[in-house]
Order: sequence, then C-alpha cells, then structure tokens
Amino acid sequence: MPVHSKLPDAGTTIFTVMSSLAAELGAINLGQGFPDFQMNEELISLVSKAMYDGFNQYVHMNGWARLREVLAEKIGFLYHTPIHPESQITVTPGGTYAIYTALTAVLQPGDEVIVFQPCYDSYIPNILVNGAVPVLVDLQFPEYKIDWAQVRSKITPRTRMIMINSPHNPTGSVLSKEDIEELTALVKDTDILILSDEVYEHLIYDGLPHQSILRYPGLLARSFVCFSFGKIYNCTGWKLGYCVSSPELMAEFRKIHQFNCFSCHAPSQVALSQFLLQKDSYLGLSPFMQAKRDLFGSLMQQTRFTPLPSRGSYFQVYRYDQISDEDEKTFSLRLIREAGVAVIPVSALYQSATDNKVVRFCFAKKEETLERAVEKLVAAGF
Ligand code: PMP
Ligand code: GLN
Repeated sequence: MPVHSKLPDAGTTIFTVMSSLAAELGAINLGQGFPDFQMNEELISLVSKAMYDGFNQYVHMNGWARLREVLAEKIGFLYHTPIHPESQITVTPGGTYAIYTALTAVLQPGDEVIVFQPCYDSYIPNILVNGAVPVLVDLQFPEYKIDWAQVRSKITPRTRMIMINSPHNPTGSVLSKEDIEELTALVKDTDILILSDEVYEHLIYDGLPHQSILRYPGLLARSFVCFSFGKIYNCTGWKLGYCVSSPELMAEFRKIHQFNCFSCHAPSQVALSQFLLQKDSYLGLSPFMQAKRDLFGSLMQQTRFTPLPSRGSYFQVYRYDQISDEDEKTFSLRLIREAGVAVIPVSALYQSATDNKVVRFCFAKKEETLERAVEKLVAAGF
C-alpha cells in the first residue's frame, strides 16, 4: 500500500531516542525531562480514594467542574485575572495535547506561525500537520533572548499565530515584562493569535515573577495558554493538563477536543480539585527545584562543562567547547557511551543546522542521581 505520510520528514523524537539509549546502555538519564523521585503521596492517596469513592466514569468533556472552579480561583490568586471556569478552561490529557488541539482548532493551510528555536519538538510537526507554515526566529545565543525587531520583520498578512514558551524548554530562559510589552505592541491592531506554553509555570527561580499571559486580559483575549499537571506535581506520566483561553477561542478548541480525547482521567481530576486547595503544593516547587539546580551547578564545577544560566524549567544547558569540537549529536552519543550519562543535544530542537556546542541536562532528579552522574562525567574525563 502506498503511504502518503502527513509528516514525511518526521523521525523519532530525540527524547525517546535518548531515553531508549540510556535504558539500553544502563546510563543515568539526564536527557528526557522527568523527575526520578516519588511524587506527593497525599495526592496518590486522594486519587486512590476517588477511585474507591466511585469516580471512575466519564466526567464532563470540558473537565471535572470542581477542578475547573479551583483552577479559576488559583489563576485569580496568582495573576489577578477573573477566569470563567465554564467557558475558559478545558482539562486535557497533558500540555502537548493542549498545544496540538489549540493549533488544530485555528490553523488553516498556508497560515504562518512564528516559532522561536530551539523549541519543544512537538511545535513544528503540529504546525505542519495542519498545512500551516512555521516561520522560524532564532533565540539570540547565548542568552536565548527574543530579538523583537527580527520578529517584527517576519510578520506578513498570513501571520496567524506566535508561539511563546516561558520558562523555556530547552534553555531555561524566561520572558520578562519588557518581552510581554513588545509582544503586546506587535499584535496590537492585528488578528494574530498567541499560543503560550506555560507548563513550567511554577518552575521559575531566583525570585523572578512568571510573566503569564494570564496576567494580561488584553492578550488572553487572543491566546491559548497551556499547562501541565505532570510538571507541577512531579508526575509527568499522568499526562494531564489544561488550556485557558477566551470563551470564543475555547469554543473552537472544544470542537476539536470533544472528538479526539473527549474527556480525561476522572479520579485524578477529582483528587487534583482537592489537592490544589493547598497553595504550598505548587508554591513550594520553585525553591525545591531551585535547590536541585544549584546542587547540580556546584557539582558540575568539577567538570569542564561551562554553564549557561537557567532561570526556570527542569533544564540547564552547558557548553562543552572546552572539551571537544564535535557536533552536539556526536558529542552526546560519545557522552552516553563513555560516561554513561544521557543528555539532549540542543541542535535536535532546531530546524536549521545550528550547532552551538551546548547540551541540555535535566536536574529534576534525586540528589544521589545528580551526584552519581557528575562522578561518572568526572571519571570519564569530561
Ligand atoms: N511544553 C513543553 C515545553 C514541555 O517541555 C512539555 C513537557 N513534555 C510539554 C509542553 C507537555 O507536557 P505534557 O507532558 O503535559 O504533555
Ligand atoms: N518535555 C520533556 C523534555 O523536554 C519530554 C517530553 C517528551 O518526551 N515528549 O524532555
């Protein structure tokens, strides 16, 4: 049978490639982003209780109503913007699905979408599968900041959307208030939409505020803002998240969602609607993970890697130009084979041949995992 692929150039995601290789070689996996420590046990008990209490059937397609109410309260508390839980929040099976659904709800063939690279690797295929066109703008190395003049020069009458991600995967950079002001000025008097990937909302460090689109009702009117419970509660395998938008855009989002996933895992939603009432359950994440970033940073001083700053996310990128002039993929493959430590070559998250000799480490790990990983790097001469 001839197969007419909708994504002829798509290979296997680098996260799966590196995790499979790490498993095969018995390497420590600092590549794919996921914690290796136990999630909160009270939350586990609440899910288990919800199952015993009989919450095992379909919930409403938009998400368990009480969970959406609690999320609206949380948004009001954090960002001071009133959100209507009925019309503005939909629970999804993860942040990745929320992003795909938002793009699929609004993109028409030929629409242009401005994407900053490097980026999370689902963005470009999500655009292409909808027949739309990614318009790439490089984040400025080594700070990974947005050059807004360059963004402005890429706007055309076909520009339909700008995708932003803060805190940023893979670089750990974060958007500032000035970035949001630039974005606001750029989209003013246009019909350009915004997709804001905020899955690392609570993973922001050094006292920086998270510049959520939810702080800016004027921007929210044209935005889909995507979140992930997996990232907040150290349970990436749950694949549960949500999207917040304007009532008009959310109506379109739900047209796609209702015929794709329809409704998400019921007991987890019931449990989260209770657990989220404890503000410490999300406010405590930043100091907890910042301590891991700092521990990893101090351990890495024993190596020849040079850090670039991480202000948020699970990740920190390190330069290796003091060690080798190999390209990032070759270097990462040698690292996993010789040192037994898996990382992500940042070049895999570019569409262009950009190779800055940096690799991404995930520090969302137990202390002993970080210690053992750095011991292995040192022992192998890195
Ligand atoms: N966006 C970014 C930038 C991510 O790193 C992730 C994590 N995989 C997601 C979205 C989606 O998270 P989820 O696992 O909830 O789909
Ligand atoms: N967000 C995670 C990362 O960047 C992985 C998610 C995935 O494997 N798709 O490592």
